[in-house]
Amino acid sequence: MTSLHINTPLIEAPGMSQSSGSKVWLKMEALQPSGSFKNRGVGFACQAHQARGAKALVSSSGGNAGLAVAYSGRQLGMPVTVVVPESTKQRAIDLMNQQGAKVIITGKIWDEAHQHAMTLPNDQTAYIHPFDDPLLWEGHASIIDEVVEAGVNPDAVVLSVGGGGLLCGVIEGLKRNGLNNTPVVAVETQGAHSLSTAITARQHIGIDNIDSIATSLGAKIVAKQAFELSQEYPISSHVVSDKQAVDACCRFVDDHRILVEPACGASLAVVYEGCEALKDKRNILVIVCGGVGVSLAQLRQWRG
Ligand SMILES: *Cc1c(COP(=O)(O)O)cnc(C)c1O
Repeated sequence: MTSLHINTPLIEAPGMSQSSGSKVWLKMEALQPSGSFKNRGVGFACQAHQARGAKALVSSSGGNAGLAVAYSGRQLGMPVTVVVPESTKQRAIDLMNQQGAKVIITGKIWDEAHQHAMTLPNDQTAYIHPFDDPLLWEGHASIIDEVVEAGVNPDAVVLSVGGGGLLCGVIEGLKRNGLNNTPVVAVETQGAHSLSTAITARQHIGIDNIDSIATSLGAKIVAKQAFELSQEYPISSHVVSDKQAVDACCRFVDDHRILVEPACGASLAVVYEGCEALKDKRNILVIVCGGVGVSLAQLRQWRG
């Protein structure tokens, strides 16, 4: 079965290197057909459900996961229903409609849309969770397969964390390529810092409210697997401000002519600004997770 994602470019970014002798590698997930790494896990999960007999797909994400389900469903010839909260931007709804998905608007916040979406599937329909599903992680792990195939063995990986699906997938990919103890720098924005909160408390707890413009990082509590990994795997958690994330997006668009969401800018900020966890690393891999929830006008407005 051909995959629904593309093998993205892996680009060395000399301007980002942390010191002489260190290389920074950008894995350009922003170039996936649906604009983010979500293509990987979501595409993989949708194909697996189709192979098991599912005839239709349901999602509850107004963001990049919903768009990836809409894209995958169209590619696989499966009807898609996406339940989104009222706060979802018209632009996101338009993009999902363009892929032929039916969009239902219900609830004030994601949890309410999610609850409604969970009631829709029957035995012919598969619900695709935006971050908490082993199938998704298995699909996301292909990022690391491609990096290793390209001949790069990272000794640190920088990535952004929302619900922790990308984190779980990247660690699965590191393990299945024999890179077992490669440290991961997990970045969140202040106001969407659910992983950092759980790590500090050493308990699988979350935050009460989301208050960050990096809406793709807005999960109140991370997947249990993400928390458990943080207790046994070398993960260093970093929290940046919205401003740091936006500034990094601005710098990145000038450096690479590619526009990414603040959710992705959060990771870029840590690399641009440098941090202790990246000191002395020779091959730093940055997952440029991408995201469609951004435009030049929006970026200008955020920058103020
Ligand atoms: C989904 C998403 C994230 C967060 O991924 P999780 O798997 O929820 O941790 C980060 N950046 C972008 C652009 C995303 O779409």
